[in-house]
Amino acid sequence: MIVMKFGGTSVESAAAIERVAGIVGSRLERKPVVVVSAMGKTTNKLLAIASAAINGQREDYIRQVHDLRDFHSREARLMVPLSERAELDRTLDDHFQELTELVKGLAVLGELTPRAIDAISSYGERLSSFIVTLAFRYFGLPATHLDSRRVIVTDQRHTQAAPLFAETYCRLAETVPPLLQNQVVVMGGFIAATKEGVTTTLGRGGSDFTASIVGAGIGAEEIEIWTDVDGMLTADPTILPGGHRLRVISFAEAAELAYFGAKVLHPATVLPAVEKNIPVLILNSRRPEVEGTRIVADRVPCANAVKSIACKRRITLVNIVSTRMLMAYGFLRRIFEIFDRYETPVDMLATSEVSVSLTIDNTRRLEPILQELREFSEVSVEENQATVCLVGDNIRHTPGMASKVFHALGREINVRMISQGASLLNLGFVIAEADLKKAVEVLHEVFFAETDPAVFD
Ligand code: ADP
Ligand code: ASP
Ligand code: MG
Repeated sequence: MIVMKFGGTSVESAAAIERVAGIVGSRLERKPVVVVSAMGKTTNKLLAIASAAINGQREDYIRQVHDLRDFHSREARLMVPLSERAELDRTLDDHFQELTELVKGLAVLGELTPRAIDAISSYGERLSSFIVTLAFRYFGLPATHLDSRRVIVTDQRHTQAAPLFAETYCRLAETVPPLLQNQVVVMGGFIAATKEGVTTTLGRGGSDFTASIVGAGIGAEEIEIWTDVDGMLTADPTILPGGHRLRVISFAEAAELAYFGAKVLHPATVLPAVEKNIPVLILNSRRPEVEGTRIVADRVPCANAVKSIACKRRITLVNIVSTRMLMAYGFLRRIFEIFDRYETPVDMLATSEVSVSLTIDNTRRLEPILQELREFSEVSVEENQATVCLVGDNIRHTPGMASKVFHALGREINVRMISQGASLLNLGFVIAEADLKKAVEVLHEVFFAETDPAVFD
């Protein structure tokens, strides 16, 4: 058994889904479970519909729902035989009618709760998984649909729900392998449900996580993440095109890269895979012949210190100075207790005895956080920052790393904060977002001038 996950661009159109059918068809004997994301940018569109609704923009949301239905119907019709058109239309009608009711309800309430966000954004994967199932049959694959909400059980933290692993693994092991005996199982990623059956989601980009949960639950031989790039690259291609592909990388390094911004993998993806020691592959659905990146449990010997450079844009830097000056006993505890209470994760951190600098990328609850911090400290906030993180498990054994990095950045780029992670796998720092491109370019030149052919393509 293997798990094959296809992201939004890999299922964005009938042509893309036909390519997917070809790839899945070539692996039938390995008994694939296929996990799909919403088609193209559907999740963003659903969220835009929800915010138009609560803002009372009636014409806008009605038109957007209409466009979304047209898009799904148009692509699906290209892959459904005449005999199954009626089933397709009926299902699309049902889904879009429900969605419209929900959106109208939101418009009346004028409020968008996390639970409502999950209900709305779930339609993307519900639609895509249904359409892909019909399309697979059209292209000659024996396919059956499984509603992920029946098998992936989570807590109630809507929009960021955490799986209840024991229950989920139990349901997966019971349900999926029997279906795989003679069929390809198709499931939507990202969506799940509480024990009571209320729809939840695993957070943006969460279909990767679904794939690894399913892989761990059924004891798959391999988890394949099919996307729109050749694999994990030495830099984010939207910032620096033309980076090298990594042939292989360790779970620990991949997790660190994902956490610090390499969007190609959802940060939680590797956890279930590590636990069951299942290799994860990143592959390109447009170029299936490329061997991709293999993520493995063991350390990977490599002549290079750095494996890849991850970045995050739109970061906010918060500087906190204790007004009580020295002997600020309990200072850190108070600070973290506040961020914790407002469920705002801190990414990078540097401290001295009386001051702390930290970065966050979710500023939704920044205002009340600042208010509380100001009760015992002076706080300044810098927006439009970026974090850059060099990742590689040789970093810990390489003397002079920091001097190499800061020498490369030169005098023009002002480094606002530095942090060498306790994991020893990374060296991170904060700069103005305006300097990001330049910084990644110079670092890439320094650290990838020569590349170990065993690890890099
Ligand atoms: P999918 O829809 O298949 O899940 P995503 O858009 O979530 O795809 O992730 C793939 C994207 O991740 C790539 O198109 C690329 O722009 C981005 N990315 C960021 N950092 C990296 C990296 N180090 N290597 C490869 N891709 C990266
Ligand atoms: N469709 C969801 C999103 O856009 C999940 C995913 O694609 O992984 O975030
Ligand atoms: Mg993704």
